[in-house]
Amino acid sequence: MNWLEIGRRVLGGGAATREEALEALSAPDDELLSLLDAAFRVRLRHFGRGVRLHVIRNARSGACGEDCAYCSQSAKAHTDAPTYSMQADEAIIEGAREAERLGAMRYCIVFSGRGPIEADLERLCGILRRIKSETRLETCASMGILTLEQVRRLKAAGLNRFNHNLETSERYFPSICSTHTYAQRKATARAVKQAGLDLCSGVLLGMGETFEDRVDVALDLREIGADSIPVNFLDPRPGTRLEGLSRLPANECLKALAAFRLLLPDRELRMAGGREACLGPMQALGLFAANSMFTRGYLTTPGQGYEADLKMIESAGFEIAEIVDA
Ligand code: SF4
Repeated sequence: MNWLEIGRRVLGGGAATREEALEALSAPDDELLSLLDAAFRVRLRHFGRGVRLHVIRNARSGACGEDCAYCSQSAKAHTDAPTYSMQADEAIIEGAREAERLGAMRYCIVFSGRGPIEADLERLCGILRRIKSETRLETCASMGILTLEQVRRLKAAGLNRFNHNLETSERYFPSICSTHTYAQRKATARAVKQAGLDLCSGVLLGMGETFEDRVDVALDLREIGADSIPVNFLDPRPGTRLEGLSRLPANECLKALAAFRLLLPDRELRMAGGREACLGPMQALGLFAANSMFTRGYLTTPGQGYEADLKMIESAGFEIAEIVDA
């Protein structure tokens, strides 16, 4: 496959086709660098060498009644993931100040569970107002299934972006979750766009899905208009239904990042959970397709650490993107 030619066409407007994305996912390893080169040229056009850093905070953890097969926070899983109710307002706000000191541009507050109870939603609104008045950070929240009215309340309080992942294709979704549907996830994602908020919605790869599933969920994200796409790689957690799966090989993760870049040329593409576990010493290559990453760990697992992240970004010739005023 002539990846540079496809990259040039994407640079001229448009995006890779479904067939080209499938070819990218199944490309021989010998083509990996030319595929990444094509993705890099597209990344360079839209984002330069900047890397947007995100810090995530698990404001409420565990004890979730849903049964997402990958998730260590499901009450159906038998894991040692921490379980606690919503953290104190001051602790969450101090986390934002710390994120700003580290050079993060966005602070993402995450709640386990199917959707928010009224008390948590109201408290989050107050927290958002304080973060917006005390920092220059953009804010993001993830709290499950929301109505349009709830999204509008969060926006009025100062929320910039809401995260709600589709995770996998509509076809494969029932294999990983039985307590809610793909249609419900999509409806929340649409409500976020309808309310005029940025939509962060991504995927979790390595759950046993096919290449077709990966491309189809990417196409759905394109159709919904997701602004930011976290690409997570499953690091199977002991005690979850998917604990017996193997991690995806690093080359397969890189091909997926490149395929997503060619399908979604100007979207913020994030190397997300499982980065260290699946990509290992090849993490930096992911930055040639992705323009964003988390630092300081994930919801229930630590990352390689802020200093190591900085060193990796700089050694690969990238730079931290400036903090953006909301
Ligand atoms: S709804 Fe969220 S917290 Fe609950 S099991 Fe699914 S992914 Fe985990």
